[in-house]
Amino acid sequence: MTQSFDLVVVGGGSGGLAAAQRAAEYGARVALVEPAPLGGTCVNMGCVPKKVMWTAAHLAQALADAREYGFDVTVGGHDWAGLKARRDAYIARLNGIYAANLAKKGIEHVVGYGRFTGPDCVVAGGRELRAAHVIIATGGRPVRPAVPGAGLGLVSDDFFRLAERPQRVALVGTGYVGVELGGVFRALGSEVTMVCRHASLLRSFDEMLQRGLIEAMEADGVRFAWHTTPAGLTRGADGLVMQATDGRQLGPFDAVLWAVGREPATADLGLASAGVATDEAGFIPTDRYQVTNVPHIYAVGDVTGRAALTPVAIAAGRRLCDRVFGGKAGRHLDYRDIPTVVFSHPTIGTCGLSEADARQQFGDAVEVYTSTFVPLYYGVMSHKPKMRMKLVVVGDDERVVGCHVIGPGADEMLQGFAVAIRMGARKADLDDTVAIHPTAAEELVTMR
Ligand code: FAD
Ligand code: NDP
Repeated sequence: MTQSFDLVVVGGGSGGLAAAQRAAEYGARVALVEPAPLGGTCVNMGCVPKKVMWTAAHLAQALADAREYGFDVTVGGHDWAGLKARRDAYIARLNGIYAANLAKKGIEHVVGYGRFTGPDCVVAGGRELRAAHVIIATGGRPVRPAVPGAGLGLVSDDFFRLAERPQRVALVGTGYVGVELGGVFRALGSEVTMVCRHASLLRSFDEMLQRGLIEAMEADGVRFAWHTTPAGLTRGADGLVMQATDGRQLGPFDAVLWAVGREPATADLGLASAGVATDEAGFIPTDRYQVTNVPHIYAVGDVTGRAALTPVAIAAGRRLCDRVFGGKAGRHLDYRDIPTVVFSHPTIGTCGLSEADARQQFGDAVEVYTSTFVPLYYGVMSHKPKMRMKLVVVGDDERVVGCHVIGPGADEMLQGFAVAIRMGARKADLDDTVAIHPTAAEELVTMR
């Protein structure tokens, strides 16, 4: 069966759903192709279930803190399987809401893998879908390193399938996924070893954040195996053993989780039939308007290899459809100053340039303001973890080009400061803003 549409969207994750719905709101006839439950990585194997697990870990820490606030709390344990069941039910509800929203907007949901058979034709679910415009929003998937026994380890998708919490866990890779899931495991009671091929974590982040998180994770009892590159994984009598390239052995572990990055889902898309080019890693390059090398074929989200974050995929998809179907000429996503949060323990919130990147770009014109303090929350407690903040400013007028926070509440703090940075805030604008007291965020407007 052949059907014609104004737009075919391949992939029903954050970017694809946002684009399809925005186009339909402008009256476009839209088909969305997705073989899996709607919502993509974020809803099914990413942000949403991760935040549920982060909240459980956060509560574990709060329950421990509650004693020092005078509560007679006895925690009997944590029901991982029970939480997983509730989490899965919540996600199933979200999947249903997405399906209902598509139906409400008259979008044809084609269940199946999409594959180009020509520049304006996608085949999916036994149907041939023809369209004047096609958006590729197929995201990516977690990778395992090419070492013997890699299949014995888990990836982030498997984390969300775990029916119970493994006790001895190694996480390989110290990017977003490694530090977030490592923090969850540790707070819920696992012995955690972070395996890192260099001597720091979150290496693209401001150095203050790296240092602060290492300090906090070590204080929580997380072990770090620095300068360690895995060469293989074997199953021994007492669990998984990791061989390192320098001959060391680590373990035994009950679970090893590879958190070494993601690859784009482009290999089976038939891109050659459509003439769509990819880079060496398989990502689809686009111009600033999300246009691929084929003028009526666009790509948004993780598949483009830029800022792999849900709100970025959504914003790129919506702006693209504002332009193509809504008559808003020139509308596109500006990828500068994108705020981001790492749901580590404690959280990190960051926007703009790290101090190192700013110095590389602006040299001696860079100035930094920092603040390190023990939040009031810990005033009555025996442990006194530090919160750290940094503002990176440039030039005589001290334009804020970077804002970095690590500590409790950093996740909820950064959104508003990101607005200020985007609007071109100067340090003096922050200084002129009356503080909210007593909060940790007030430090950002009182730094000297
Ligand atoms: P996806 O959401 O991956 O959607 C792609 C969809 O395309 C999938 O549903 C897939 O099934 C489908 N697809 C693939 N191939 C085909 C095909 N041939 N035909 C049809 N459909 C196809 N981001 C944040 O902003 N905040 C967070 O807290 C956060 N946490 C994360 C935690 C984890 C563990 C992970 C892995 C990621 C996290 N992310 C987070 C990143 C976020 O999930 C992604 O940036 C976002 O989902 C990208 O959206 P997308 O639409 O590009 O791709
Ligand atoms: P990242 O790219 O963030 O981190 C990958 C990590 O794996 C790095 O520490 C890297 O080390 C290490 N690594 C890479 N290859 C190897 C190897 N062969 N052996 C050992 N270590 C290796 O990827 P993630 O999977 O953590 O996350 C993917 C993306 O998903 C993120 O970049 C982010 O955009 C998104 N995400 C966002 C979240 C959020 O918004 N809170 C949460 C989770 C994911 P090195 O530093 O040396 O390169």
